Amino acid sequence: MEYDTLVIGAGAAGMMCAAHASGRVLLIDHAKAPGEKIRISGGGRCNFTNLHCDAHAFISQNPHFAKSALARYTQWDFIELVDRHGIAWHEKTLGQLFCDHSAKDIIAMLRGLMDQAGADLLLQTSVTDIARDGNGFVALLSNSRRITCRNLVIATGGKSIPKMGATGFAYDTARQFGHRVTTTEPALVPFTFTDRRFADISGVSCPARVTANGTSFDEAMLFTHRGLSGPAILQASSYWNTGQDITVHLAPETDLAGILRAKRRSDGKKALTTELARHLPARLVDHLSTQLDMSGRLGDLSDARIEALTHDLHHWALTPSGTEGYRTAEVTRGGIETGQVSSKTMESQITPGLYFIGEALDVTGWLGGYNFQWAWSSAMAAARALQS
Ligand SMILES: Cc1cc2nc3c(=O)[nH]c(=O)nc-3n(C[C@H](O)[C@H](O)[C@H](O)COP(=O)(O)OP(=O)(O)OC[C@H]3O[C@@H](n4cnc5c(N)ncnc54)[C@H](O)[C@@H]3O)c2cc1C
Repeated sequence: MEYDTLVIGAGAAGMMCAAHASGRVLLIDHAKAPGEKIRISGGGRCNFTNLHCDAHAFISQNPHFAKSALARYTQWDFIELVDRHGIAWHEKTLGQLFCDHSAKDIIAMLRGLMDQAGADLLLQTSVTDIARDGNGFVALLSNSRRITCRNLVIATGGKSIPKMGATGFAYDTARQFGHRVTTTEPALVPFTFTDRRFADISGVSCPARVTANGTSFDEAMLFTHRGLSGPAILQASSYWNTGQDITVHLAPETDLAGILRAKRRSDGKKALTTELARHLPARLVDHLSTQLDMSGRLGDLSDARIEALTHDLHHWALTPSGTEGYRTAEVTRGGIETGQVSSKTMESQITPGLYFIGEALDVTGWLGGYNFQWAWSSAMAAARALQS
């Protein structure tokens, strides 16, 4: 069968690309349904973009790479698309936009656009072999079909959540055509501690400033049976390397030292733990009181003790044993090196007609809709090149 463009991977990027590329387009995926990660994203409501999206929110060996595609197909473009399809949405927090109803609305919109464009979709099919064929490509499929195409778009994402069909296919294909692939790591992923030291406060959450490798995030953190989770931790995990400390600044918006000094005068008989429990979860104060000296009354506190205690609460250094890995990671940090890919079109600079889009590339967004925006923007960069 002959196609102008074969897109492999019917996730966010692949569907968006197939819906906007011109000519005869075939989209294939080994899963039973397209857009499975969209379906489960954002707790079933899909955090489909972020109002504050620009290159600052992406990690890559080349932090400039994402700029062109993000500028040429912006969050406002995707919001306009969603609005045109009557999908109601709301901002939850920090510019994060979610569907009011269901993530399935986004999948249905993309399916509708693909149908309008006349793109074919083949599910439960994988590619067993790809080779150069003149100026184009030939792909052998698991159903024994042979597809020839002028353009080949690799949109099979990263390694996160193998249970949902994630594979290293994009990296293997990139290497096959002479591309380099960076080291890849699970990102936006909870930390684990082998000693399960937070099991007694599992379920407790609080605001925190979490710093990993010099980058800080102010959001909620959550103590779990296995370790730490919550948005601040997931964000920090994308910057963390095995063996490094993270620093947790508890109650980042509160001047704890100032409060303790003032209360020492006005409320001296009150227990220190009772006052701390007004600013931190009581179960966390209990947990910390086994490690830090929190005994006695406010009136007995010296300046030095207040300084030492608040310093410890604001610079809590922890060394995670590891992360929960690709099993639960929302994304993969790293991927196909961007140096050999056009930032304007996502086309390989080694093999004309070969494109890489979405999470497969070494572009990793923060939590909050950035990864989907990268999928939409990179897909549109390729689709526009495939229109011309
Ligand atoms: C639980 C969870 C929640 C998330 N929530 C959000 C969110 O709310 N907002 C946000 O911005 N990001 C979110 N993300 C991240 C986001 O889902 C991804 O960054 C995004 O889906 C990447 O798009 P993609 O098209 O590049 O890859 P994917 O969406 O992963 O699509 C890749 C497709 O390729 C297929 N495939 C893989 N290997 C093969 C193969 N060998 N042959 C054939 N097909 C193959 C897969 O079946 C899949 O359909 C979430 C991720 C997870 C896991």
